[in-house]
Amino acid sequence: MSAIFGTAGEVMIYLDHSATTPVDPRVAEAMKPYLTESFGNPSSIYRAGQDVRMAVEQARETIAALLGARPKEIIFTSGGTESDNTAIKGLALKRGSGHIVTSAIEHPAVLNVVKWLEKNGFTATYVPVGSDGVVDPGEVRKALKPDTVIISVMHANNEVGTIQPIEEIASIAKEARIPFHTDAVQTAGKLPLDVGGMGIDLLSLSAHKFYGPKGIGVLYAGQGIRFEPCVHGGHQEWGKRGGTENVPGIVGLGKAAEIAMGEMQADELRVRALRDKLEAGLADRISDIDFNGHREKRLGGVANVCIRYVEGEAMLLRLDYHGIAASSGSACTSGSLEPSHVLLAIGIPAEIAHSSLRFSLGKGNSQEDIDKVLEVLPPIVEKLRSMSAFPR
Ligand code: PLP
Repeated sequence: MSAIFGTAGEVMIYLDHSATTPVDPRVAEAMKPYLTESFGNPSSIYRAGQDVRMAVEQARETIAALLGARPKEIIFTSGGTESDNTAIKGLALKRGSGHIVTSAIEHPAVLNVVKWLEKNGFTATYVPVGSDGVVDPGEVRKALKPDTVIISVMHANNEVGTIQPIEEIASIAKEARIPFHTDAVQTAGKLPLDVGGMGIDLLSLSAHKFYGPKGIGVLYAGQGIRFEPCVHGGHQEWGKRGGTENVPGIVGLGKAAEIAMGEMQADELRVRALRDKLEAGLADRISDIDFNGHREKRLGGVANVCIRYVEGEAMLLRLDYHGIAASSGSACTSGSLEPSHVLLAIGIPAEIAHSSLRFSLGKGNSQEDIDKVLEVLPPIVEKLRSMSAFPR
């Protein structure tokens, strides 16, 4: 992919692909007609509508192929958050009451749904993770209750990149006859997925994490899985998600899936090699640096580090000054910096969690980008440490 430009037109070294990805130009090209001349409503019976319907159904088939699913099991949504809501809330509300099992390191799109359900009469268990950020399937088994209605464990974590043993968790779910949902927002289009072979009943994905547009995603729901729709409305998506389809988004998602099927394996190997060089270079140049998450069981593009005695946000601002975009584990909530719940869950003390940085690499990154980070970050750390009020 070509260079990425910041809002002021400057070249940016973009190392935040877990947050979002640039739209692949081939995706933008595929979407264009559906933003201009092909504007029909796919529910209209005249030709201009039916042509658009065909484009929607073609995209559905491509997504089904990406997941090893049937087209009828693909429901288009507005993104990962809505898919997670529909899977968990939809299933829980269909049952009316019961217990939910999830992990302590889920994205807020899952955690806050489960918390909402707790406020509305459901109970929940948040399974802990080990210091490597991996969920122990044995803990999932232990958490099950006679009234457990759903198990939801993410495929890969968005902060540390750890890949969870979802096949093992799915088989525990199957044995207990409990539907299993996985949030695959960080893995769809990056790692091979096969819902049948992996035992997944419900899966969430989002186009903007793999070079598609924002505001479009999918909920895969296997045949026979019953849930209450989150968006009631028209008959669209077989009544499972009302609302006129986001046609340009759906076409873009289909194109992104098609590209991913051809390129994800090579991309994963390439970003993994770059990420490993970045980590090795940081370890050589910066003292008191910790690398978070399981060393092998994690996404190839993600490096999550804690650089002790320096605020993550302070490093980010200085990296930004040098045209480098990354992210930190602290989220700014109502004016205060909250340490990442994921880093806390893997046992990192709050003061160290505040010193975290996440680099997430993607298609457009090159060795020069890594060299630039390795040139720029060590002096930033040195400078900040010399001014730091952190106890050492
Ligand atoms: N789940 C995970 C693991 C994510 O990383 C994200 C986005 O960061 C979401 C869900 C939410 O997806 P969306 O931005 O499409 O609503």
